[in-house]
Amino acid sequence: MKIFVVNCGSSSIKYQLIDMKNESVIAKGLIERIGMKGSMLTHTTVGKDKVKLPSAIPDHVDGIKKILAALVNEKYGALTSLSEIDAVGHRVVHGGEKYSASVLIDAKVLRTVDKLSEMAPLHNPPNIAGIKACKKLMPKVPQVAVFDTAFHQTMPPVAYMYGLKYDEYKKSGIRRYGFHGSSHRYVSAYAAKMLKKPASKLRIITCHLGNGSSIAAVYKGKSIDTSMGFTPLAGLIMGTRCGDIDPAVVPVLMAKKKLDPAAMDKYMNKECGVLGVSGVSSDFRDLETAAAKGNARAQLALDMFCYQVKKYIGAYAAVMDGVDAIVFTAGVGENDIGTRAKICEGLDYLGVKLDKKRNNVRGEATEISSAKSKVKVLLIPTNEELVIARDTDKICKGLKKK
Ligand code: AMP
Repeated sequence: MKIFVVNCGSSSIKYQLIDMKNESVIAKGLIERIGMKGSMLTHTTVGKDKVKLPSAIPDHVDGIKKILAALVNEKYGALTSLSEIDAVGHRVVHGGEKYSASVLIDAKVLRTVDKLSEMAPLHNPPNIAGIKACKKLMPKVPQVAVFDTAFHQTMPPVAYMYGLKYDEYKKSGIRRYGFHGSSHRYVSAYAAKMLKKPASKLRIITCHLGNGSSIAAVYKGKSIDTSMGFTPLAGLIMGTRCGDIDPAVVPVLMAKKKLDPAAMDKYMNKECGVLGVSGVSSDFRDLETAAAKGNARAQLALDMFCYQVKKYIGAYAAVMDGVDAIVFTAGVGENDIGTRAKICEGLDYLGVKLDKKRNNVRGEATEISSAKSKVKVLLIPTNEELVIARDTDKICKGLKKK
Protein backbone atom coordinates (compact mmCIF):
# COMPACT_ATOMS: atom_id res chain seq x y z
CA MET A 1 0.00 0.00 0.00
CA LYS A 2 1.44 3.40 -1.03
CA ILE A 3 -0.05 6.36 0.78
CA PHE A 4 0.10 10.02 -0.21
CA VAL A 5 0.13 12.12 2.96
CA VAL A 6 -0.99 15.72 2.49
CA ASN A 7 -0.76 18.66 4.89
CA CYS A 8 -2.30 21.82 3.41
CA GLY A 9 -1.76 25.25 4.92
CA SER A 10 -3.22 28.49 3.63
CA SER A 11 -0.34 29.05 1.20
CA SER A 12 1.58 25.79 1.46
CA ILE A 13 1.29 22.05 0.87
CA LYS A 14 3.63 19.59 2.58
CA TYR A 15 3.52 16.00 1.38
CA GLN A 16 5.10 12.57 1.72
CA LEU A 17 4.63 9.37 -0.22
CA ILE A 18 4.97 6.45 2.18
CA ASP A 19 5.28 2.75 1.35
CA MET A 20 3.47 0.90 4.13
CA LYS A 21 5.33 -2.34 3.38
CA ASN A 22 8.19 -1.06 5.51
CA GLU A 23 6.78 2.37 6.50
CA SER A 24 9.49 4.04 4.42
CA VAL A 25 9.27 7.50 2.83
CA ILE A 26 9.62 7.18 -0.95
CA ALA A 27 9.30 10.87 -1.77
CA LYS A 28 8.53 14.13 -0.01
CA GLY A 29 8.31 17.81 -0.67
CA LEU A 30 6.75 21.17 -0.13
CA ILE A 31 4.94 23.83 -2.08
CA GLU A 32 5.31 27.36 -0.77
CA ARG A 33 3.69 30.71 -1.60
CA ILE A 34 0.49 29.39 -3.23
CA GLY A 35 -1.33 32.30 -4.88
CA MET A 36 1.65 34.61 -4.42
CA LYS A 37 4.68 35.70 -6.39
CA GLY A 38 7.60 33.26 -6.20
CA SER A 39 5.59 30.06 -5.69
CA MET A 40 7.73 26.96 -5.83
CA LEU A 41 7.63 23.18 -5.50
CA THR A 42 10.61 21.54 -3.80
CA HIS A 43 10.54 17.79 -4.38
CA THR A 44 12.81 14.94 -3.31
CA THR A 45 12.49 11.31 -4.30
CA VAL A 46 14.60 9.27 -1.89
CA GLY A 47 17.83 8.22 -3.64
CA LYS A 48 17.58 11.02 -6.23
CA ASP A 49 18.61 14.69 -6.20
CA LYS A 50 16.29 17.31 -4.71
CA VAL A 51 14.62 19.50 -7.37
CA LYS A 52 13.32 23.05 -7.03
CA LEU A 53 10.54 23.83 -9.49
CA PRO A 54 9.44 27.47 -9.52
CA SER A 55 6.19 28.21 -11.37
CA ALA A 56 2.93 30.09 -10.92
CA ILE A 57 0.74 28.07 -8.52
CA PRO A 58 -2.56 29.95 -8.18
CA ASP A 59 -4.44 27.52 -5.92
CA HIS A 60 -4.40 24.18 -4.09
CA VAL A 61 -5.79 22.21 -7.08
CA ASP A 62 -2.91 23.43 -9.21
CA GLY A 63 -0.48 22.70 -6.36
CA ILE A 64 -1.65 19.08 -6.00
CA LYS A 65 -1.58 18.73 -9.81
CA LYS A 66 2.08 19.82 -9.84
CA ILE A 67 2.99 17.49 -6.98
CA LEU A 68 1.36 14.51 -8.76
CA ALA A 69 3.23 15.43 -11.96
CA ALA A 70 6.50 15.51 -9.98
CA LEU A 71 5.73 12.09 -8.46
CA VAL A 72 5.48 10.50 -11.93
CA ASN A 73 8.25 12.53 -13.59
CA GLU A 74 10.66 10.21 -15.44
CA LYS A 75 13.78 11.94 -14.16
CA TYR A 76 13.05 12.89 -10.57
CA GLY A 77 9.77 11.08 -9.84
CA ALA A 78 9.03 8.07 -7.63
CA LEU A 79 6.17 6.32 -9.46
CA THR A 80 5.57 5.02 -12.97
CA SER A 81 1.85 5.74 -12.71
CA LEU A 82 -0.47 7.59 -10.32
CA SER A 83 -2.50 4.37 -10.07
CA GLU A 84 0.22 3.20 -7.64
CA ILE A 85 -1.22 5.61 -5.03
CA ASP A 86 -3.64 3.47 -2.99
CA ALA A 87 -4.98 6.13 -0.63
CA VAL A 88 -4.57 9.73 0.50
CA GLY A 89 -4.26 10.75 4.15
CA HIS A 90 -4.99 14.38 5.03
CA ARG A 91 -3.98 16.30 8.13
CA VAL A 92 -7.11 18.16 9.22
CA VAL A 93 -6.62 20.61 12.06
CA HIS A 94 -10.04 20.81 13.71
CA GLY A 95 -12.34 17.84 14.20
CA GLY A 96 -14.35 19.48 17.00
CA GLU A 97 -16.26 17.12 19.30
CA LYS A 98 -17.45 15.21 16.27
CA TYR A 99 -14.24 13.26 15.57
CA SER A 100 -12.28 11.41 18.21
CA ALA A 101 -10.55 9.24 15.59
CA SER A 102 -9.56 9.34 11.93
CA VAL A 103 -12.31 8.87 9.37
CA LEU A 104 -12.87 7.95 5.71
CA ILE A 105 -13.86 11.12 3.87
CA ASP A 106 -17.26 11.20 2.16
CA ALA A 107 -19.58 14.09 1.30
CA LYS A 108 -21.01 14.15 4.85
CA VAL A 109 -17.58 14.28 6.49
CA LEU A 110 -16.55 17.07 4.15
CA ARG A 111 -19.66 19.05 5.10
CA THR A 112 -18.92 18.57 8.80
CA VAL A 113 -15.27 19.63 8.42
CA ASP A 114 -16.50 22.65 6.50
CA LYS A 115 -18.90 23.53 9.32
CA LEU A 116 -16.04 23.22 11.81
CA SER A 117 -14.22 25.96 9.86
CA GLU A 118 -16.19 28.38 12.04
CA MET A 119 -13.91 27.32 14.89
CA ALA A 120 -10.71 27.12 12.81
CA PRO A 121 -11.09 29.72 10.06
CA LEU A 122 -7.38 29.80 9.30
CA HIS A 123 -6.81 26.06 9.32
CA ASN A 124 -9.77 23.99 8.12
CA PRO A 125 -10.44 25.85 4.82
CA PRO A 126 -6.99 25.02 3.33
CA ASN A 127 -7.38 21.42 4.57
CA ILE A 128 -10.72 21.25 2.72
CA ALA A 129 -9.12 22.79 -0.39
CA GLY A 130 -6.53 19.96 -0.34
CA ILE A 131 -9.21 17.28 0.05
CA LYS A 132 -11.26 18.71 -2.83
CA ALA A 133 -8.16 19.00 -5.04
CA CYS A 134 -7.24 15.33 -4.46
CA LYS A 135 -10.85 14.26 -5.02
CA LYS A 136 -10.88 16.12 -8.32
CA LEU A 137 -7.56 14.72 -9.52
CA MET A 138 -7.88 11.18 -8.10
CA PRO A 139 -11.66 10.61 -7.83
CA LYS A 140 -11.42 6.86 -7.21
CA VAL A 141 -8.71 6.94 -4.54
CA PRO A 142 -10.02 6.73 -0.94
CA GLN A 143 -9.19 9.67 1.30
CA VAL A 144 -8.88 9.77 5.06
CA ALA A 145 -8.95 12.73 7.49
CA VAL A 146 -6.63 12.60 10.51
CA PHE A 147 -7.50 15.32 13.01
CA ASP A 148 -5.07 17.30 15.19
CA THR A 149 -7.72 17.51 17.88
CA ALA A 150 -8.81 13.83 17.92
CA PHE A 151 -6.30 12.50 20.48
CA HIS A 152 -7.41 15.10 23.03
CA GLN A 153 -11.10 14.18 22.83
CA THR A 154 -10.55 11.96 25.90
CA MET A 155 -10.08 15.05 28.12
CA PRO A 156 -12.67 15.24 30.91
CA PRO A 157 -14.96 18.30 31.15
CA VAL A 158 -13.03 19.55 34.17
CA ALA A 159 -10.01 20.00 31.87
CA TYR A 160 -11.74 21.21 28.72
CA MET A 161 -14.38 23.63 30.07
CA TYR A 162 -13.65 27.35 30.34
CA GLY A 163 -15.07 29.56 33.06
CA LEU A 164 -17.38 31.31 30.61
CA LYS A 165 -21.17 31.07 30.62
CA TYR A 166 -22.21 27.47 29.93
CA ASP A 167 -24.17 28.61 26.87
CA GLU A 168 -20.94 29.54 25.03
CA TYR A 169 -20.01 25.85 25.20
CA LYS A 170 -23.46 24.51 24.34
CA LYS A 171 -24.23 26.95 21.52
CA SER A 172 -20.82 27.76 20.07
CA GLY A 173 -18.64 24.84 21.11
CA ILE A 174 -16.24 27.15 22.94
CA ARG A 175 -14.00 24.89 25.04
CA ARG A 176 -10.44 23.53 25.07
CA TYR A 177 -9.80 21.16 22.15
CA GLY A 178 -6.00 20.92 22.04
CA PHE A 179 -3.83 20.39 18.98
CA HIS A 180 -0.68 18.50 17.86
CA GLY A 181 -2.72 15.39 18.75
CA SER A 182 -1.02 13.12 16.21
CA SER A 183 2.36 14.07 17.65
CA HIS A 184 1.38 13.58 21.31
CA ARG A 185 -0.22 10.27 20.39
CA TYR A 186 2.83 9.07 18.43
CA VAL A 187 5.48 9.98 21.00
CA SER A 188 3.49 8.75 24.00
CA ALA A 189 2.95 5.36 22.34
CA TYR A 190 6.63 5.27 21.34
CA ALA A 191 7.63 6.09 24.93
CA ALA A 192 5.62 3.13 26.24
CA LYS A 193 7.48 0.90 23.78
CA MET A 194 10.86 2.31 24.84
CA LEU A 195 9.98 1.74 28.49
CA LYS A 196 8.69 -1.77 27.69
CA LYS A 197 5.49 -1.12 29.61
CA PRO A 198 1.88 -1.01 28.46
CA ALA A 199 0.62 2.55 27.94
CA SER A 200 -2.23 1.69 30.32
CA LYS A 201 0.31 1.60 33.19
CA LEU A 202 2.02 4.91 32.46
CA ARG A 203 1.69 8.61 33.26
CA ILE A 204 3.52 10.54 30.54
CA ILE A 205 4.03 14.26 29.97
CA THR A 206 4.68 14.91 26.28
CA CYS A 207 6.37 18.21 25.39
CA HIS A 208 5.96 19.09 21.70
CA LEU A 209 8.29 22.09 21.51
CA GLY A 210 8.71 23.65 18.07
CA ASN A 211 7.62 26.82 16.37
CA GLY A 212 4.22 25.98 17.79
CA SER A 213 4.44 24.28 21.18
CA SER A 214 2.09 22.28 23.35
CA ILE A 215 2.27 19.93 26.32
CA ALA A 216 -0.05 17.05 27.10
CA ALA A 217 -0.78 14.92 30.15
CA VAL A 218 -1.15 11.36 28.84
CA TYR A 219 -2.64 9.18 31.57
CA LYS A 220 -2.93 5.44 30.88
CA GLY A 221 -2.55 6.10 27.13
CA LYS A 222 -5.16 8.85 26.98
CA SER A 223 -4.80 12.62 26.80
CA ILE A 224 -6.41 14.08 29.91
CA ASP A 225 -5.19 17.67 29.54
CA THR A 226 -3.20 19.80 27.13
CA SER A 227 -1.89 23.33 26.99
CA MET A 228 -3.42 24.53 23.71
CA GLY A 229 -7.07 25.45 23.87
CA PHE A 230 -9.96 26.48 21.65
CA THR A 231 -7.24 27.51 19.18
CA PRO A 232 -3.50 26.80 18.89
CA LEU A 233 -2.78 30.25 20.37
CA ALA A 234 -3.16 29.13 23.98
CA GLY A 235 -0.69 27.69 26.46
CA LEU A 236 3.04 28.22 26.17
CA ILE A 237 4.76 31.25 24.71
CA MET A 238 5.73 30.13 21.18
CA GLY A 239 7.77 31.34 18.19
CA THR A 240 5.36 34.14 17.27
CA ARG A 241 2.25 33.27 19.38
CA CYS A 242 1.74 34.87 22.77
CA GLY A 243 0.32 31.82 24.55
CA ASP A 244 -1.68 32.37 27.75
CA ILE A 245 -2.27 35.97 28.77
CA ASP A 246 -4.87 37.67 30.94
CA PRO A 247 -7.92 37.74 28.61
CA ALA A 248 -8.68 41.29 29.74
CA VAL A 249 -5.53 42.44 27.93
CA VAL A 250 -7.25 41.73 24.59
CA PRO A 251 -9.89 44.52 24.68
CA VAL A 252 -7.36 46.91 26.21
CA LEU A 253 -4.87 46.38 23.36
CA MET A 254 -7.60 46.43 20.71
CA ALA A 255 -8.67 49.86 21.91
CA LYS A 256 -5.13 51.22 22.35
CA LYS A 257 -3.81 49.99 19.01
CA LYS A 258 -7.14 50.47 17.18
CA LEU A 259 -7.22 46.85 16.06
CA ASP A 260 -10.33 45.00 14.84
CA PRO A 261 -10.78 41.32 15.90
CA ALA A 262 -8.95 39.96 12.82
CA ALA A 263 -6.02 42.35 13.27
CA MET A 264 -5.82 41.51 16.99
CA ASP A 265 -5.82 37.79 16.16
CA LYS A 266 -3.02 38.31 13.64
CA TYR A 267 -1.04 40.38 16.16
CA MET A 268 -1.24 37.66 18.83
CA ASN A 269 -0.44 34.87 16.36
CA LYS A 270 2.29 36.44 14.25
CA GLU A 271 3.99 39.27 16.13
CA CYS A 272 4.24 38.06 19.71
CA GLY A 273 5.84 35.05 21.39
CA VAL A 274 9.62 34.82 21.74
CA LEU A 275 9.88 37.03 18.64
CA GLY A 276 7.82 39.77 20.24
CA VAL A 277 9.61 39.59 23.61
CA SER A 278 13.13 39.42 22.17
CA GLY A 279 12.67 41.63 19.13
CA VAL A 280 15.26 39.29 17.57
CA SER A 281 13.73 36.15 16.05
CA SER A 282 11.20 33.36 16.49
CA ASP A 283 13.99 30.80 15.99
CA PHE A 284 15.61 29.45 19.13
CA ARG A 285 19.00 29.18 17.40
CA ASP A 286 19.01 32.92 16.69
CA LEU A 287 17.87 33.66 20.24
CA GLU A 288 20.66 31.56 21.71
CA THR A 289 23.27 33.29 19.53
CA ALA A 290 21.92 36.71 20.53
CA ALA A 291 21.71 35.76 24.23
CA ALA A 292 25.31 34.49 24.16
CA LYS A 293 26.34 37.93 22.89
CA GLY A 294 24.60 39.57 25.83
CA ASN A 295 21.15 40.38 24.41
CA ALA A 296 19.06 40.48 27.60
CA ARG A 297 15.67 40.34 25.85
CA ALA A 298 16.67 37.25 23.88
CA GLN A 299 17.74 35.65 27.17
CA LEU A 300 14.45 36.69 28.79
CA ALA A 301 12.43 35.10 25.95
CA LEU A 302 14.36 31.83 26.34
CA ASP A 303 14.01 31.92 30.12
CA MET A 304 10.26 32.57 29.87
CA PHE A 305 9.84 29.57 27.57
CA CYS A 306 11.72 27.19 29.88
CA TYR A 307 9.90 28.55 32.95
CA GLN A 308 6.50 28.01 31.36
CA VAL A 309 7.31 24.46 30.17
CA LYS A 310 8.45 23.65 33.71
CA LYS A 311 5.22 25.06 35.14
CA TYR A 312 3.15 22.78 32.89
CA ILE A 313 5.28 19.77 33.86
CA GLY A 314 4.57 20.53 37.52
CA ALA A 315 0.86 21.02 36.84
CA TYR A 316 0.48 17.81 34.85
CA ALA A 317 2.44 15.79 37.39
CA ALA A 318 -0.08 17.10 39.92
CA VAL A 319 -3.15 16.12 37.90
CA MET A 320 -1.78 12.63 37.16
CA ASP A 321 -0.70 12.04 40.77
CA GLY A 322 2.92 11.76 39.59
CA VAL A 323 4.74 11.16 36.36
CA ASP A 324 6.66 8.17 34.96
CA ALA A 325 8.14 9.76 31.86
CA ILE A 326 8.67 13.17 30.28
CA VAL A 327 9.08 13.21 26.49
CA PHE A 328 10.70 15.97 24.44
CA THR A 329 9.86 16.22 20.75
CA ALA A 330 9.61 18.61 17.71
CA GLY A 331 12.23 21.13 16.50
CA VAL A 332 13.25 22.58 19.86
CA GLY A 333 12.54 19.45 21.92
CA GLU A 334 14.56 17.22 19.59
CA ASN A 335 17.50 19.55 18.95
CA ASP A 336 17.95 22.10 21.69
CA ILE A 337 20.22 20.47 24.27
CA GLY A 338 20.49 23.59 26.45
CA THR A 339 16.74 24.24 26.58
CA ARG A 340 16.03 20.62 27.60
CA ALA A 341 18.65 20.89 30.36
CA LYS A 342 17.23 24.19 31.60
CA ILE A 343 13.66 22.87 31.70
CA CYS A 344 14.74 19.85 33.75
CA GLU A 345 16.80 21.94 36.20
CA GLY A 346 15.28 21.92 39.68
CA LEU A 347 12.86 19.10 38.99
CA ASP A 348 14.73 16.82 41.42
CA TYR A 349 11.77 16.96 43.82
CA LEU A 350 9.73 15.16 41.14
CA GLY A 351 12.42 12.50 40.70
CA VAL A 352 13.86 13.92 37.45
CA LYS A 353 17.62 13.56 36.97
CA LEU A 354 18.90 14.49 33.55
CA ASP A 355 22.18 12.88 32.44
CA LYS A 356 24.34 15.64 30.93
CA LYS A 357 26.20 13.26 28.62
CA ARG A 358 23.10 11.41 27.45
CA ASN A 359 21.35 14.73 26.85
CA ASN A 360 24.12 15.75 24.44
CA VAL A 361 22.18 14.37 21.49
CA ARG A 362 19.91 15.57 18.68
CA GLY A 363 17.09 13.98 16.74
CA GLU A 364 17.25 10.34 17.85
CA ALA A 365 15.00 8.30 20.09
CA THR A 366 16.92 7.84 23.32
CA GLU A 367 16.72 8.09 27.09
CA ILE A 368 18.40 11.24 28.39
CA SER A 369 17.82 10.77 32.13
CA SER A 370 20.39 9.12 34.40
CA ALA A 371 20.00 5.48 35.41
CA LYS A 372 18.97 6.69 38.90
CA SER A 373 16.23 9.01 37.68
CA LYS A 374 12.83 7.90 38.98
CA VAL A 375 11.16 9.72 36.10
CA LYS A 376 12.47 8.67 32.69
CA VAL A 377 13.25 11.59 30.39
CA LEU A 378 13.09 10.65 26.72
CA LEU A 379 13.91 12.32 23.45
CA ILE A 380 11.62 10.98 20.72
CA PRO A 381 11.53 12.49 17.21
CA THR A 382 7.91 12.95 16.25
CA ASN A 383 6.43 11.62 13.02
CA GLU A 384 2.97 13.03 12.36
CA GLU A 385 3.06 11.92 8.71
CA LEU A 386 3.53 8.32 9.78
CA VAL A 387 0.53 8.57 12.13
CA ILE A 388 -1.55 9.85 9.20
CA ALA A 389 -0.25 7.08 6.91
CA ARG A 390 -0.89 4.35 9.51
CA ASP A 391 -4.47 5.50 10.16
CA THR A 392 -5.14 5.81 6.44
CA ASP A 393 -3.69 2.34 5.84
CA LYS A 394 -5.82 0.82 8.60
CA ILE A 395 -9.06 2.45 7.43
CA CYS A 396 -8.47 1.65 3.75
CA LYS A 397 -7.44 -1.95 4.37
CA GLY A 398 -10.75 -2.37 6.16
CA LEU A 399 -12.49 -1.08 3.03
CA LYS A 400 -11.00 -3.77 0.84
CA LYS A 401 -12.17 -6.51 3.17
CA LYS A 402 -15.79 -5.31 3.06
P1 AMP B 1 9.19 22.73 14.30
O1 AMP B 1 8.09 23.73 14.34
O2 AMP B 1 8.94 21.51 15.09
O3 AMP B 1 9.67 22.44 12.89
O4 AMP B 1 10.45 23.44 15.02
C1 AMP B 1 11.12 24.51 14.42
C2 AMP B 1 11.95 25.23 15.46
O5 AMP B 1 12.88 24.33 16.07
C3 AMP B 1 12.84 26.33 14.89
O6 AMP B 1 12.15 27.54 14.73
C4 AMP B 1 13.90 26.45 15.96
O7 AMP B 1 13.46 27.35 16.94
C5 AMP B 1 13.99 25.08 16.59
N1 AMP B 1 15.25 24.37 16.28
C6 AMP B 1 15.54 23.59 15.23
N2 AMP B 1 16.82 23.13 15.32
C7 AMP B 1 17.34 23.64 16.45
C8 AMP B 1 18.61 23.54 17.12
N3 AMP B 1 19.61 22.81 16.63
N4 AMP B 1 18.76 24.21 18.28
C9 AMP B 1 17.77 24.95 18.79
N5 AMP B 1 16.55 25.07 18.23
C10 AMP B 1 16.33 24.44 17.07
